[in-house]
Amino acid sequence: MYDFVVVGCGPPGARFARRAAEEGHDVLVFEKGEIGEPLACSGHVSTDIWDFTGPDARQELLQNEIRGARFHVDEPQRTAKSTDERAREAGRQLDHAEPFYRDETISNVIDRVGLDRHLADLARDAGADVRDHHTVTEIEEHEDRATVTASTPRDTITVEGKMVAGCDGPRSRVRDALGLDEPDELLHGVLGFDPAPDPGDYVDVHLTAPRFFAWRIPRGDAGVEYGLAAPPGDGVQQLFEQLRSDYGVDLDRTCSGAIPIGPPERVTTRRGFLIGDAAAQTKPFTGGGILYSMTAADHAARTIDPDWPPTLQAYEHAWREDLSREIQLGHLLRRAYSLPEPIQRAGLRTLSGEIGVHMDRPTSLFSREQLGALLSR
Ligand SMILES: Cc1cc2nc3c(=O)[nH]c(=O)nc-3n(C[C@H](O)[C@H](O)[C@H](O)COP(=O)(O)OP(=O)(O)OC[C@H]3O[C@@H](n4cnc5c(N)ncnc54)[C@H](O)[C@@H]3O)c2cc1C
Repeated sequence: MYDFVVVGCGPPGARFARRAAEEGHDVLVFEKGEIGEPLACSGHVSTDIWDFTGPDARQELLQNEIRGARFHVDEPQRTAKSTDERAREAGRQLDHAEPFYRDETISNVIDRVGLDRHLADLARDAGADVRDHHTVTEIEEHEDRATVTASTPRDTITVEGKMVAGCDGPRSRVRDALGLDEPDELLHGVLGFDPAPDPGDYVDVHLTAPRFFAWRIPRGDAGVEYGLAAPPGDGVQQLFEQLRSDYGVDLDRTCSGAIPIGPPERVTTRRGFLIGDAAAQTKPFTGGGILYSMTAADHAARTIDPDWPPTLQAYEHAWREDLSREIQLGHLLRRAYSLPEPIQRAGLRTLSGEIGVHMDRPTSLFSREQLGALLSR
């Protein structure tokens, strides 16, 4: 019997597997496809990412360095205008954007497929048995173990683990099988790529999508990414097409995915637990989950003893203690996306300029560094 059977080898699955194997546990990971594919993520992360990777990762995975964001608030009548007028207007809006910046790199744009492969390699190096092309189809939880069934292109296997870790993303099968609650909300995110290189160091954020936003990310030699996320059913694809035409670009690839916003009250049972998007461990104001999910994975590996189920409570406590306040404040920040446009404009004008905020830690809005930056204007 394995100590842990991990379902899904995204950032939290691979990170947990690596850390648990380093603790001396016997770890098996099932990943349904190729590691890292299909891509449905911008890979825009704080520089803390390099604390979770091996020594050569930065050189291999870094695409661009970002030191600021320009926030745009569109005119509401924009949708009634022709494509040409909208394109001209989009150009003007860039001039009227409110910039938030630092004199140093704030965040990195990375190769997300490469990140997943790198993290899976680290898990393997630590001794975890990582098997791709294994789709988990059934999970059964018992008093003293969990059984997990996975299908490969050739056969079906069933294994036993003292614990099962659900790291299988926003539409988690493990979550359903364990009877845990779904996240409060699943946003629909769409991405598209223009191959023209752009080494710019600002991302553009458009507060145009209902209850969320659209974005443009320069990815260095890897081109430019355009994206948009919003609650499903709010015409996400049409809004994305409008963003594309506002910028007047042709996109050679598009993809989409779900962004869970939550988290639910409980992410553990007797023999199972969730990490990452399955547990909605994301930032409600950006949808970003790579860093939070790996932070939670570290808490899980540190606290959970597969021979002693009560330690699952220690995991619930530890990750919430670390991230709950940030997530709560993130929910509050997100409310600003739905404020009336004049208030958004006034707020952005007041707060824009040099910032001292950490992108994963909204509580740093109240830090000495940020207050200093505000007072020095
Ligand atoms: C459009 C979009 C843009 C985003 N941009 C960013 C960003 O810029 N920065 C950021 O930090 N976050 C971003 N995110 C969020 C980020 O992608 C997730 O928070 C992060 O990937 C969480 O990882 P995860 O492993 O929990 O989920 P996933 O990345 O979804 O990985 C789950 C893994 O489980 C596997 N799996 C699923 N079901 C099974 C099964 N039955 N059997 C075996 N394997 C299975 C999947 O194949 C997958 O590999 C974005 C998300 C979207 C949708």
